[in-house]
Amino acid sequence: MYTDPPNLVCARPELDQMAEYIPGESLEAFSARTAIPIHALIKLNSNESPYGPAPQVLRALGDHGNYNNYPDTDSNALRQSLAAYTGVDDRLIVVSHGSNELINLLWHIFLSPGDNIICCPPTFSLYTTVTAFCGAHVLEAPRTEDYEVDVERILKALTPQTKLIVLCSPNNPTGNPVAEEDVLALLETGRIVVVDEAYVEFSDNPGGFAHLVPEHQNLIVLRTFSKWAGLAGLRIGYGLFPAWIVAYMRRAQCPFEVNVAGHIAAIETLKQLDYTLAKVQQIVQERERLFTMLASHPFLKPFPSQGNYILTHVNHQDVSMSQVRAQVEAHGILLRYFNTPYLRDFVRITVGLPEHTDKLAQALAKLTGTRSMMGMSH
Ligand code: PMP
Repeated sequence: MYTDPPNLVCARPELDQMAEYIPGESLEAFSARTAIPIHALIKLNSNESPYGPAPQVLRALGDHGNYNNYPDTDSNALRQSLAAYTGVDDRLIVVSHGSNELINLLWHIFLSPGDNIICCPPTFSLYTTVTAFCGAHVLEAPRTEDYEVDVERILKALTPQTKLIVLCSPNNPTGNPVAEEDVLALLETGRIVVVDEAYVEFSDNPGGFAHLVPEHQNLIVLRTFSKWAGLAGLRIGYGLFPAWIVAYMRRAQCPFEVNVAGHIAAIETLKQLDYTLAKVQQIVQERERLFTMLASHPFLKPFPSQGNYILTHVNHQDVSMSQVRAQVEAHGILLRYFNTPYLRDFVRITVGLPEHTDKLAQALAKLTGTRSMMGMSH
């Protein structure tokens, strides 16, 4: 196995500076680590849907008889369905292999070495990873104590090399949306404002900022079928762009990037909107039940969320994060744990099925028991 590069060739130096994006642990890896079989696990660490797609979607995938041919590289049928869904002209829509890939492409289109982006931590870390890959820098404009975007801070951080301002709405992991007036104020900077709406269907404003795209030359909205539509495994995302950026996106994209199965599943999902949006509503209701359950524990502080997840602070004076993790993992539950400068002792919990909330409640109840026993012995 060759681990060192040969003398004459080395990888781009930016790669050595890059902090790798670490996704939520897979079922396979968790099962191998804990010896709990996959069928007994509850995966609440990657904001996936517990419901999966509509049955008609699975049927359409099975019925398709033409997987030997490449997909329509212009994605015409899907873009037309998306135009009806978003209210945005199909010429302003670009489809991609997951919205991660849109971020990757966009960043590479706009960022040369020495450029920068502004982002508002705590937020989705892929924005930073891809910036480093481009040899560019991240200027941080941290959110306020309530995790609101701080427009003044962003304006102060701007430099002539700032190309992109990135917002996530609702924000992953804090769960709160961005105010329209903040987006409008940032559009005034003339920089490209990217609003990542991966979770918008779960929010109080499921239309998001799509309506603003046709009126602005510098607004981009990113979306995905991974969360609300239960299609994370098929990798299908799309973005709404000003026409001049669509042209660059299409030029930069590899041909046939979105596979045939992704097209079929997304088109059929948009035909089954009633079913799929009813599942979204079930998740929204369960989010409130999960919130109440979490808030009932004195050692936990959940933050109100408009996504399909709840960020929760663990008060380590009461119970340590490792105690929480050990107990939760012993029950076969996967959560997302954070211990970064912006998120010390935080855990993000995806909203699952009612029985998932119940199982998590059982695990957490054991900790409450531990705490009162500790209290008794002191
Ligand atoms: N944006 C945000 C904020 C996300 O949380 C995620 C998924 N973790 C993505 C984009 C990427 O989604 P996709 O599956 O479409 O690549």
